[in-house]
Amino acid sequence: MKVLKFGGTSVGTVESLRNVKSIVESCNERVIVVVSALGGFTDQLIATARKAEAGSEEYISDLQAMKQRHFNIIDELVEDCDKESVKDQISNLFESLSRTYKGVYLLEELSRRSLDKVVSFGERMSSCIISKIISGAMLFDSPRFIKTLRRFGKHVLDNDSTQKLIHAEFDNVDFKVAVVPGFIATDASGVFTNLGRGGSDYTAAILAAALDAQVLEIWTDVDGFMTADPRLIKEARVIDSLSFIEAMELCNFGAKVIYPPTIYPVFHKNIPIYIKNTFNPHAPGTCIKDNRSVPSQQVKVKGVSSVTDSCMITLKSASDLKRADFNTRVLNTMARNGVSVLLVSDTSSKNATSVAVTASEIEQALEALEKEFAGELETGELLPMDVQRNLATIAIVADNMRNDVMVPGKLRETLALGKLTVVGRSQGTPETSLAFVVPGSERVYALQLVHNVFFGS
Ligand code: ADP
Ligand code: ASP
Ligand code: MG
Repeated sequence: MKVLKFGGTSVGTVESLRNVKSIVESCNERVIVVVSALGGFTDQLIATARKAEAGSEEYISDLQAMKQRHFNIIDELVEDCDKESVKDQISNLFESLSRTYKGVYLLEELSRRSLDKVVSFGERMSSCIISKIISGAMLFDSPRFIKTLRRFGKHVLDNDSTQKLIHAEFDNVDFKVAVVPGFIATDASGVFTNLGRGGSDYTAAILAAALDAQVLEIWTDVDGFMTADPRLIKEARVIDSLSFIEAMELCNFGAKVIYPPTIYPVFHKNIPIYIKNTFNPHAPGTCIKDNRSVPSQQVKVKGVSSVTDSCMITLKSASDLKRADFNTRVLNTMARNGVSVLLVSDTSSKNATSVAVTASEIEQALEALEKEFAGELETGELLPMDVQRNLATIAIVADNMRNDVMVPGKLRETLALGKLTVVGRSQGTPETSLAFVVPGSERVYALQLVHNVFFGS
């Protein structure tokens, strides 16, 4: 059995949906097809919710246009005998969406819960239509079996319940093609939640791992995982193969082609991931599997990626700092509070240490550190924390970096020759990634320089 995931870029138009249909229908084995909302539709749902919250009646005409977009697809692609029933189902969903928007409009308030409900409509609608476009497909309702818990103010997967529910839903059901809405979930009380933006990839990985699929295929709009973001670096080229760890690192450092939590469940089960292009299905794509090269081999840098909106917090001691102990305490504090650390940086002062985090987690990070070091801040042992914003974290990724002195040297030289303003860099001996932080305004220049050096211009 295979799991195929088609993102918004693959399900946005009549033409792309024709490709999806042909790709799925040409599979010989059983398949689970995880789908996103129509391309750009989740953003549109959110933008319209904001208009309603602001008291604008434009949400009403937006709804009309959104409905028309779905109806056009039904008119073009659903067989005549199913058209009316699919239109009825989509109309019912639009009525429910309209009531939700009206509530937001009247209250002039868009709560987290309402927003979660609003965005759930994208995948509910697309999956309903796509299950009628692909012949013989059966629709499964992921909010029944993808469950989330709340941790540190975010929805995270409730793995235990989800595993049980997936088996209850799929075991002993005879299907050739199962269509499943990605991204959406519910909490223990049945309220709509989701797996985070880009989360359809994760839905697909959770299903692939739970049901022991042979392979997970992520179908998108590029020929594979590339050496850099092709929208920023025009020379970026497709990588034939990556290890799970390399892919995980590139994604954690911002490669948008896969949502970062996706890799872990399939890595754990050793299920390979293929990245394929819906618009060029015969291209080989990228294979991600457990193919870490043997440590003695020459290190080959696989790619470079970047996280915009990075911030750096510097903690400075008034006296000598036992850096190792101090860094461990900082990292533990971040982990306990659900903050992801992009890098811990050496600074020029031996009494200071810096950590880079994303802008979305900076307040949480500061609050946690202030609590943890309240005593030291009070006595003046630690100076008030310094925060730098609008930065970018850039990372090059390769397995077995530890065995190589050439790559770190080459990177250092590139940054120096390019006169980049490096405000932080990862410390210690790297295993799989080397990261550094520059002002956001230097991000693309830095990516281009590094890409030229490691992959040619
Ligand atoms: P989907 O709708 O299929 O989920 P996404 O927009 O989430 O698609 O991801 C695909 C996009 O990711 C590509 O169009 C590409 O612009 C971008 N991207 C960023 N970094 C990379 C990379 N290293 N390799 C390939 N694509 C990348
Ligand atoms: N539709 C959701 C989003 O736009 C989930 C996804 O596409 O993976 O974030
Ligand atoms: Mg995506």
